[in-house]
Amino acid sequence: MTDIVPLLNKWDPMLFNRLREEITEDRLYSYLKPLSDTAAPSQTVPWTRARVLRQLIERDGWLHHPNVHFDGNYKGTGNVALTLGPKFTEKRVWMIAHLDEVSYFIEPAVGGRYPLTPLCYHFIPVGRRVRSQALEYSLDKREYIVAGYGDIVTEKDGTIFFEPEGKQPLRAGQRVCFCHELTWDRTTGVVQGSLDDIAGVVPLVLAASVLKDYDVEVLFALSDEEEGPAGAGNQTFCRGVARVLNDYDIPDLVFDVDGHSADSRGGKAAPDTLKPGQGASFAEKGSQGRGGITPPTLYELERKMAAELRPLGIDLQENVGGYVSRTDGGVNGMMRTANVVLLGYLSSDAHYDTQPTTANMKDLVSLARAAVCYALLAHTDLYREVVLAR
Ligand SMILES: [Zn+2]
Repeated sequence: MTDIVPLLNKWDPMLFNRLREEITEDRLYSYLKPLSDTAAPSQTVPWTRARVLRQLIERDGWLHHPNVHFDGNYKGTGNVALTLGPKFTEKRVWMIAHLDEVSYFIEPAVGGRYPLTPLCYHFIPVGRRVRSQALEYSLDKREYIVAGYGDIVTEKDGTIFFEPEGKQPLRAGQRVCFCHELTWDRTTGVVQGSLDDIAGVVPLVLAASVLKDYDVEVLFALSDEEEGPAGAGNQTFCRGVARVLNDYDIPDLVFDVDGHSADSRGGKAAPDTLKPGQGASFAEKGSQGRGGITPPTLYELERKMAAELRPLGIDLQENVGGYVSRTDGGVNGMMRTANVVLLGYLSSDAHYDTQPTTANMKDLVSLARAAVCYALLAHTDLYREVVLAR
């Protein structure tokens, strides 16, 4: 069996030095903080987080790099499409994470408070109040503004209400989402805030900032409207990214990133041994096989690469026994190719179940560095022979 690291070093003998120098906790935080603190209910991304992301890439000086193309609202679909390489639609690797966060529709007031319909899986238990905000689109200002603040509460019968602070009437067309500013404990690595799934997006963006210097064809599809309600079929949520993927030729690899549950709650299992802070997580199957699934060929390559990367300071860990949810890239990517990998960061309280969402910065750094390695690996003869059988 050929070793993988020498193949990666063929791209650049200094690759792993670059990854250590350019993908750091501080640089990651410089993207994560402003993005996480920008509210982005589903369907608002082009006016909210996509604009911030564009500014951050411009601040970092690589927005106008000749190998980079950034589209903050691909054909009006709401998705960010960031591409590397000269070809238009032939991208060999798709890297996917979602920019939108969970949100709620507002129903007519009952006794001074507003019933909410979740555009997401609602996990907040009875008795917990979650500080939240209602956003509306201002036709005058041409941007989203806060219409009011208040709390989300869950009643014993399961109904959900928004209890506003002020007297400002609220209405349909406005969307409610959580508000919590990102915090980072540099000692433990714990970050807490609106991280689902901006904590998946930012490692991919940093990976792009490195990969732009190599001869690769990669699509970063950073979607809007991954979140949605529970239902019997796949497509009640994970609607967003299909709107961009369908325009592209079939890829060799889909790299799907979202939070992987660190909790054992609601019938979902935590990983057997893996804990937050121990590295990026890779899993074989989403939603017990209903979501994306990874073929055995590709899974063996992942295990081998993980073993080779560990001594180089990139912790890529097999998620054994943990429940991994379906997500945009898995559900939609598998409709175009079998060659899907499910990457993530262990995360608690993804939908503010008992507290604002947590993840670990150390895992996000490993995830970003690993993303670079996967993209380069997918462009090698080894990958073609093993995974594509060509
Ligand atoms: Zn998510």
